[in-house]
Amino acid sequence: MAGRKFFVGGNFKMNGSIKMIKEIIEQINNAKLDDNTEVIVAPPALYLLKVQETLSAPAQVSAQNCFTETSGAYTGEISPSQLKDADVHWVILGHSERRALFGEADKVVADKVRAAIKAGLGVIACVGEKLEERENGTTEEVVQRQLEAIAKEIDEDKWKDVVIAYEPVWAIGTGKVATVEQAQETHAGIRKWLAKTISDKVAQETRIIYGGSVNGKNCRELAKSEDIDGFLVGGASLKPEFIDICKSGS
Ligand code: PGA
Repeated sequence: MAGRKFFVGGNFKMNGSIKMIKEIIEQINNAKLDDNTEVIVAPPALYLLKVQETLSAPAQVSAQNCFTETSGAYTGEISPSQLKDADVHWVILGHSERRALFGEADKVVADKVRAAIKAGLGVIACVGEKLEERENGTTEEVVQRQLEAIAKEIDEDKWKDVVIAYEPVWAIGTGKVATVEQAQETHAGIRKWLAKTISDKVAQETRIIYGGSVNGKNCRELAKSEDIDGFLVGGASLKPEFIDICKSGS
């Protein structure tokens, strides 16, 4: 981890209800989370305000998506400045479900990252390869292409507002977690790419978190890896084991 603050995000995706989310937030509030770990939870947009009001520090609320523009005729969208206005300081961008199901290309994701940072949000920027890309040996190329699009849109000093989430698409929601070696290798590759493309400082300071079937059982082993600075958790973030994952960095 080399001085980087451990970071755990819970991505509820389109799951939950008022009752269920209330219970999850109560669990998190009662968990006595360590100040040495940054924890964010991302409920569906409808519940953001409620969670923002009820979640206790050190945990923070995050959106799962936002648009590039500040305001206007964009039915169904939420702007980065509206998130900021509602005291929501984080947003997940470029999740593979947004890319695959909602057609978000690298450039769209990168534009959103730029707009979110400009509005003062922290961004969890997701990258990751599909199964066929892993199998044909292009993992590194795909991840770098996704990161390069972002690098074109933001200045070096803005990387401090970015957490990179490496999420191999084949590991998301499948129960098929990447091995510690696979995750570590890709994370180290991303760090090397940051050093080469941005700067040594950014490479050393940027958190690179892993996502894809992380659970209470496999998190500690993954957390030991030098370049794994935390997790983005889907399914398990809706369960009590999320607390174990939040505590796996200490
Ligand atoms: P999962 O999802 O933990 O359910 O695999 C991770 C994610 O999509 O962020």
